[in-house]
Amino acid sequence: MTVTWATYEADYFDYSGPMVPGAVVLDHEIAPRSGWSAVVSAGTVLTLVDVGGNQSGDCLIYAAADTTERYSVPDTLVAQRNAYLVEGSVLMSNEGRPLMTIVGNEVERQDTIGGACSKESNTLRYGHHTRFHHACRENFLLEGARHGLGARDLVSNINWFMNVPVEADGTLGIVDGMSAPGKRVALRAERDVLVVISNCPQVNNPCNDFNPTPLRVIVTDPSASVSETDRR
Ligand SMILES: [Zn+2]
Repeated sequence: MTVTWATYEADYFDYSGPMVPGAVVLDHEIAPRSGWSAVVSAGTVLTLVDVGGNQSGDCLIYAAADTTERYSVPDTLVAQRNAYLVEGSVLMSNEGRPLMTIVGNEVERQDTIGGACSKESNTLRYGHHTRFHHACRENFLLEGARHGLGARDLVSNINWFMNVPVEADGTLGIVDGMSAPGKRVALRAERDVLVVISNCPQVNNPCNDFNPTPLRVIVTDPSASVSETDRR
């Protein structure tokens, strides 16, 4: 039998569904290598689905009302007293205020130390021939431009579904992932937040299994009634 892309996708991809029930207010497939952004309203829950497994979703979060307040890795890690993000972790801003809370997580641990790929880091790590590879930084710039953000607004980020172990001597690894098709993380917005996601285009290390695949983003409103069609 000839295995076509369509049959491969049907067997391999798992688009899953929202982790927290509620009316679906947004449902979008982020194509491989591309970016996505939207304002997520306070009280709603964003579920991110790792459709193909081990696909890094690089993520930045800003207060929608004032984007100079934005996600802060040091504030978040100090507040959690944990080098990883797990269920219950509160994603803190540079003003020390909660932006979102992880209310569901199907991966052992989530990374926020490894950073985002860029053509600059690619050429340093993998050689000058990678200079023309599209990278997360380009996705962040393209999506950010839709909201008045520029290069100076790009800060350290979260890498959903990327496995970056912190070794005993403090070094970081970027190693084979622990995620799988259909695995999810769910984030409740503690205020109106602008969420920017780069579906990582990296093909020079194992963060995407050398095979960029889609991500699915679903936003549900738990306070709104759920229709039968939403229950699928
Ligand atoms: Zn990347």
